[in-house]
Amino acid sequence: MTFAFDNTYARLPERFFARLPPTPVAQPALVKLNEPLARALGLDPALLASPDGVGMLAGNAVPDGAEPIAMAYAGHQFGSFVPQLGDGRALLLGEIVGVDGERFDLQLKGSGRTPFSRMGDGRAWLGPVLREYLISEAMHALGVPTTRALAAVTTGEPVHREIVLPGAVLTRVARSHVRVGTFQYFAVREDVDALRRLADYVIARSYPEVAEADRPYRALLDEVIARQAALVAQWLCVGFIHGVMNTDNTSVVGETIDYGPCAFMDAYDPSTVFSSIDQTGRYAYANQPRIAQWNLARLAQALLPLLDEDETRAVEQGQAAIDAFPALFDRAYLDGLRKKLGLLEPQDDDAECLTELLKSMAEAEADFTNTFRALVAVAEGDEGPAQAAFAGFDAWAPRWRERMAREPAARDARLRAMRAANPVIIPRNHQVEAALTAAVAGDLGPFERLLAVLARPYDDDPANTAYRRPPAAHEEVRHTFCGT
Ligand code: AMP
Ligand code: MG
Repeated sequence: MTFAFDNTYARLPERFFARLPPTPVAQPALVKLNEPLARALGLDPALLASPDGVGMLAGNAVPDGAEPIAMAYAGHQFGSFVPQLGDGRALLLGEIVGVDGERFDLQLKGSGRTPFSRMGDGRAWLGPVLREYLISEAMHALGVPTTRALAAVTTGEPVHREIVLPGAVLTRVARSHVRVGTFQYFAVREDVDALRRLADYVIARSYPEVAEADRPYRALLDEVIARQAALVAQWLCVGFIHGVMNTDNTSVVGETIDYGPCAFMDAYDPSTVFSSIDQTGRYAYANQPRIAQWNLARLAQALLPLLDEDETRAVEQGQAAIDAFPALFDRAYLDGLRKKLGLLEPQDDDAECLTELLKSMAEAEADFTNTFRALVAVAEGDEGPAQAAFAGFDAWAPRWRERMAREPAARDARLRAMRAANPVIIPRNHQVEAALTAAVAGDLGPFERLLAVLARPYDDDPANTAYRRPPAAHEEVRHTFCGT
């Protein structure tokens, strides 16, 4: 099996990672291969699905040109700093350039112990592997920047958590696996040379346009902040809750990464928390922008030695960069919400109109996705679905109608924007749980069907009505588990 590997990260100094091969497993078996993604990466799906390919996806063989490494990183986990985390159960196989010329990391997750495993077994099990597969692919189809899933395989080996579970490996594809925590790893070691090498690496690979700036490292920080602000705004606009926004789970290229106890909201409630490990609601839905800013402040702190030789001026630079976050986020969030309402030309009272809607949706415990999608129907001329989904609709609607009357954009353009901003289908927790439970029990049917529906989340297809239904009381999933 040959891939056109070109492994830039593996050419960085040895202290950036540990080199080691994946640990072979007893009996690799393919569960799911992402054929369109394989083709986009210039890989042959038939080869990947062959015994040799599946062996490689399970870690039993290292393809020619791969240089497997476990990346070193640190991170703030729920606010507490851990100076050494690193890939404890993942290996970056290498980088390949896709058919559109973009470079992607190919990572095996669940590939065995590494020097960063601490007490862990280096393994993953099928439930969380398929969960990441499903939700990351759903995010991609929704248009939210994310790592992607190329394949899921089972290992034929048991994984011991509270109970014995089927072992699995996910092949993850990312534009980069550098995290805020990667910078923190070198900052806490006061290794300024490594910090500079890492920053130069990220600039060359992911932000080449900032290389020409007067202050490239400040410009890099600004760009990372801008992408993170845009990303979290997109999360909020689709009702996504990441659940573990630790700095080691914050990508510097602005992709959603590390799908653990993440979930989508059904009823709109800004304080929603699903993660069973998030006792204090640190990573609640509405806290996500604030947490992103906090995480970016940790990045700014790590970058201080590069921002200016003078410490005071470096802090000023870092602070100025961070201070831009709230306005960047607010603008991206407001723009996103405007599109959801078909308001294409900004007007001064838009924020008020939207705040009123969201407040009223929270009071009415309106389903987030269905309410916004029902507003598309309203714009098309049918108020029925909105009245059914959202008890506060009639009280709020005059305000929107009045604002629509002042909207200069053509009706067609408004409708197009609304249809493209309001998904019909999201991965609802009760359906995700049901699909994963069936898959772990050996029936992949519900997983395959859900995945197929989630690939076209904006299609208003009557055949998919079952997937639009919010959970009945007895189906509601209140807690999600890291389940690592
Ligand atoms: P996560 O919560 O998945 O973001 O992981 C946080 C840290 O724990 C990372 O350094 C992971 O590599 C490590 N980790 C999580 N699960 C395992 C495991 N089963 N074995 C070894 N390391 C793990
Ligand atoms: Mg992680």
